[in-house]
Amino acid sequence: MNDRPTPDPLAPAARSSARDPWLLTPGPLTTSTSVKAAMLHDWGSRDDAFIAMTARVRERIAALAHAAATHECVPLQGSGTFAVEATLGTLVPREGRTLVLVNGAYGRRMVEILQRIGRAVAVRGWEEHEPVDPWVVDDLLAADPSLGHVAVVHCETTTGILNPLAEIAAVVARRGRRLLIDAMSAFGAIEIDARATPFEALMASSNKCLEGVPGIGFAIVERPALGSAKGNAHSVALDLHEQWRGLESNGQWRFTPPTHVLAALDRAVEEHALEGGVAGRGARYRANCARLVGGMRAMGFRTLLPDELQAPIIVTFHRPADPRFDFEAFYAALRARGFVIYPGKLTRAETFRIGCIGRIGLAEIDGALRAIEEAVRDLGFDPAAA
Ligand SMILES: *Cc1c(COP(=O)(O)O)cnc(C)c1O
Repeated sequence: MNDRPTPDPLAPAARSSARDPWLLTPGPLTTSTSVKAAMLHDWGSRDDAFIAMTARVRERIAALAHAAATHECVPLQGSGTFAVEATLGTLVPREGRTLVLVNGAYGRRMVEILQRIGRAVAVRGWEEHEPVDPWVVDDLLAADPSLGHVAVVHCETTTGILNPLAEIAAVVARRGRRLLIDAMSAFGAIEIDARATPFEALMASSNKCLEGVPGIGFAIVERPALGSAKGNAHSVALDLHEQWRGLESNGQWRFTPPTHVLAALDRAVEEHALEGGVAGRGARYRANCARLVGGMRAMGFRTLLPDELQAPIIVTFHRPADPRFDFEAFYAALRARGFVIYPGKLTRAETFRIGCIGRIGLAEIDGALRAIEEAVRDLGFDPAAA
């Protein structure tokens, strides 16, 4: 492993192949060449080096939430949803009732998971362009003492809206309940400090703002909650308590670990630190987002959300009402120019989305804006048509 290449971690984003498109999506995302290069080895699951790597990544991720003293980071094979399902199934007692705060598809997914695994759920919904209201949460908790947990999405990737996490956490803590945060799309770019924002568990994954490759989900869980969750889980493979016990007992993963994905994440976490941690990563994404929104508005496109509700993660734009606008043709025109965007995921408005995250910077955003300008011209639609 000492032949590992050591490229400049802060070198401008580079594609490993001229044919890789820039992924302006909610994931999978563009990764750095050095993160990809970290995978050019084979590790045994019992190798000392791999065991040390697992411990290092767990510790560094917990530290990103200022949670190393109070919480454990438990990684799990799979995409982010695997970690969400494992966390809900492990931490919510079989007889527990959970209030899920829903303003998009990922909130709805937590409801679906809880229902499928046979846990009682109360749902409070908002419109997809509205943030969760902490005062409503306060009223619901005051009225119903059977609600032991509250589950919420930090940045709802459906629209890109940012929910007021600190206020929600304060309400939940004041009412003596436990908070489960789907922080998937913003973890590593928007600060969450466990000392100030109390949570029982936070879920995220390797391939969003940490800029690793996809394949690992993880939860950062309060130690006592994890310790007392034995036997709760509905599933053998998605049992975070057992996964943690396995890691604690011999440093190894319970089942075949995604060795290459972990090596990439190890490198990605290092590059995150070199970029200035959460503040540095967040600053790059905020700059990307501001440039993107400014450029799109200058062409006439309209954002779904007002700027004060917009997280610098992914931006939802209204589809132009011009009949000459066709999303598939627009997508193809951008793909041909090397940029991948994403359809909308809203239940009502017709939209599309462009991500600001991954190993991209202003040069790539400017490239995307030029490609969009050309696509508008070639396809002949009016971006401002409402
Ligand atoms: C990406 C994402 C997930 C997990 O999705 P996977 O496709 O399973 O990785 C969960 N919640 C939010 C808010 C997300 O953005």
